Amino acid sequence: MEQTRYPPRWPCHNLSDLRLGVIGEDDFQQVWLTHPTMVALRRRREIPLESLETCQGCIYQGFCTGGCPQGALDVYGDVNARNPMNCYRVLKGMDPCFVIPEG
Ligand code: SF4
Repeated sequence: MEQTRYPPRWPCHNLSDLRLGVIGEDDFQQVWLTHPTMVALRRRREIPLESLETCQGCIYQGFCTGGCPQGALDVYGDVNARNPMNCYRVLKGMDPCFVIPEG
């Protein structure tokens, strides 16, 4: 969890839109251990990729982790989705559902 001179706290600089508490008001340990978003972020790696519609049948599941949750949150609004910006199938142009826009 990052702490700056500003009051809000968030778990990572890549997740700076995700405010989990306020310094001086919320207990750090309580937020770290029990905030639903923190729990979801920790459990993300336990979710079988085959259970995600975007990952079904993917040959890279054996070593893929689904990527950083920041991109999953940005694109799908769900920390438990895959991050298409870290997806091997997307990066190789093999994904039928997501194409990185040119530009
Ligand atoms: S490479 Fe992409 S589609 Fe395959 S398991 Fe990883 S995130 Fe899912």
